[in-house]
Amino acid sequence: MEINSNIISPLVVGGLNSPLGARDLTHLLQLEGEERKTMLRKAAEVKASEVGNVVYLRGLIEFSNCCVKNCMYCGIRLDNKTVQRYTVSNEDILAAAKYAYDKNFGSIVLQSGEIESPAFTEKVEYLLQEIKALSNGELGVTLSCGEQSEDTYRRWFLAGGHRYLLRIETSNPELYSKIHPNDALHSFTKRVDCLKLLKKIGYQVGTGVMVGLPFQTFEDLANDLLFMKELDIDMCGMGPFIEHVDTPLYQLKDQLWPLQKRFEVTQNMVALLRIMMPDINIAATTALQAIDKLGREKVIRTGANILMPNITPGVYRNSYKLYDNKPCTDESADDCTSCIDVRVHLTDNEVGYGKWGDSKRFGKRG
Ligand code: SAH
Ligand code: SF4
Repeated sequence: MEINSNIISPLVVGGLNSPLGARDLTHLLQLEGEERKTMLRKAAEVKASEVGNVVYLRGLIEFSNCCVKNCMYCGIRLDNKTVQRYTVSNEDILAAAKYAYDKNFGSIVLQSGEIESPAFTEKVEYLLQEIKALSNGELGVTLSCGEQSEDTYRRWFLAGGHRYLLRIETSNPELYSKIHPNDALHSFTKRVDCLKLLKKIGYQVGTGVMVGLPFQTFEDLANDLLFMKELDIDMCGMGPFIEHVDTPLYQLKDQLWPLQKRFEVTQNMVALLRIMMPDINIAATTALQAIDKLGREKVIRTGANILMPNITPGVYRNSYKLYDNKPCTDESADDCTSCIDVRVHLTDNEVGYGKWGDSKRFGKRG
């Protein structure tokens, strides 16, 4: 096939050694039609040759929706008084972890709102120790509990947490300040410092952004990709921004890209990141499925290699609504699990049952 664009040709001929700059990425993110298809195919090839057509599972336990922050996009922000707050009991969290272990998932993610307190630090530390004990140390555990002190991150690492997800949301500090309140609790610099701290402690570190935020440009997204490359991350989770009716950003809903465009640009982001960072782990996030029923599968085909089935106990799911139309909120864990195999096979990938599926990038860096 003939490709006319000078910029895409290095991708097509496989010249991965020539690093893509901000201008190239800005252009590539906007490709359409045949050129876009070529780029997505290239990402699929890179995935197959670098990490293989295997999808690793992370059973997601959204164990608390209590949060002290007020991110303007998020449905469980402190000021949303319509949310019924919950924290799952230790017993139920451990039962969900055991379920993941018995189902051979390999890993789980413990995710929550942001709570900084001695009791919370202890709770998570206890859970990590118990999860390691109930699985003979076999279940991998990723944490995603926001910004914490160095001491807390260290305690959790020692207790068995070995990966941490903390999205930067956007790498543009100006845009960051438009989608967060401007106070010390919502500091861009602090978030970047936390990411560096997590790396220093020894975690495999994941970050990511939302795609299609109000005021966000293609240049911003190109810089997000370069930010991740620069930080040399191990894992990434990116998803479309989906407005939530009970949040301040909902007022800007008429200025947003159509949902389909947010989906397609997210798919482009994942594909380009796979090409730029061939050996990292990239998640096919749940928010993709909120736009397109087969959204996660499409993105697995074109670069992603991680799936996070929701195993939060069913009664709580409806209360962890970060955005509207969140899928699988009224199903039990079993309903979700039974469809994983079918969904992954649809993409010509295999499920990496019983494996941690650590980021190869992390292994190489040692
Ligand atoms: N409190 C932790 C983890 C839970 S929030 C933290 O903030 O790091 C997990 C992610 O949900 C956030 O990082 C954000 O990227 C995403 N999110 C929140 N609101 C969203 C929305 N309206 N649309 C899409 N993603 C959203
Ligand atoms: Fe809290 Fe995370 Fe939502 Fe921000 S994005 S309000 S920190 S749960």
